[in-house]
Amino acid sequence: MKTPTKSHGRLSISASPRPRALMSDRPELQGAWTAKVITLFPQAFPGVLGASLTGKALDDGLWRIETIDLRPFGDGKHRNVDDTPAGGGAGMVLRADVMARAIAQAAEGTPDDRDAWPILYLSPRGKPFTQATARRLSQCQGVTLICGRFEGLDQRVIDHFAIEEVSLGDFVLTGGEIAAQALIDATVRLIPRVLGNQASTEEESFSDDLLEHPHYTRPATWAGHDIPGVLLSGNHGEIARWRREMAERLTKERRPDLWRAYCAAHGKDPEEDAEL
Ligand code: SAH
Repeated sequence: MKTPTKSHGRLSISASPRPRALMSDRPELQGAWTAKVITLFPQAFPGVLGASLTGKALDDGLWRIETIDLRPFGDGKHRNVDDTPAGGGAGMVLRADVMARAIAQAAEGTPDDRDAWPILYLSPRGKPFTQATARRLSQCQGVTLICGRFEGLDQRVIDHFAIEEVSLGDFVLTGGEIAAQALIDATVRLIPRVLGNQASTEEESFSDDLLEHPHYTRPATWAGHDIPGVLLSGNHGEIARWRREMAERLTKERRPDLWRAYCAAHGKDPEEDAEL
C-alpha cells in the first residue's frame, strides 16, 4: 500500500500513514527541528543530508525530516497533480487544490504561528536565500518546504496560504528538491551539536558579512608553493589580523555588494584599501 507520508531517520520504522510524531512514544524526538517536505520525489530524501555530519545528527535525533508525497493527493485514477497553464503556453502547472491537500496534511501537529513554523516554496522568483535566512529558520521549530516541478505552482495556493518564496539563486533547476536539500543543509548545521565544532559556524563566510580567508594545510611546501609564513609564525594575534585582512580583501575584490554592506556596518570607507 502506498502511504502519503514517509519518515526518515529514526522515524522511518513507522509503517503507518499517520505522521509518526503525532503518536511518538519518543518524546525526546518531538522537540527536534523538523523539515516537512512536500515533493513528487520523496525517494530523493534525505539524499545527501543522510551523509556526514547532517546524517549523523539525523540519526541522533537532533533534527528530523518527513516527506509528504504529493502524488497520493492527486486527482482521479491517475492521481493527476498538474494541468495545462491557463492562458496557454508550454509546460504544466501544479494544481492548487492538490497542493492544498498536501499542505493540510503537513500542517497536522505544527503550530499555526508562521514565525514558529514557516511554509516556504522553493522558487527562482523567491527572495534570495542567505545565511541570515538559514539562521532564522534554524531558530524555528521546523519548516514546511514545497518543492515545485514543471512550470511551478498555481499562484492562488501561494497567495491563499501566504507562502514565502525562497530562491537559491539566479538559475533555474528542474525541481525544488535539490534547492530544499541545500536549504535544509545550511539550516541544520546551525542547530547546536549538529557540527562537532560550533565555533566554526561563527568564523566562516558570511557570519560577519565577509567571505572567509583562505585555508592551508600540510605539506608546508607543495609544488613549489609555500604556506604564507605568518600562519607558521605561532603568533596568534598576527594570524588573526592576517586572516581578517585577507577576508576583507577577498570580499572587496569578489563581492562589492557585501563589501559595501560590511563597510557601512563597521564605519569604514569602501574605497580604502584593505592593506596587507
Ligand atoms: N517556470 C519557472 C521555473 C520552474 S522550475 C520560472 O521560470 O520561474 C521548477 C521548480 O524548480 C520550481 O517550481 C522550483 O520549485 C524549483 N526551482 C527552480 N529553480 C530554483 C531556484 N533557483 N531556487 C529554488 N527553487 C528552484
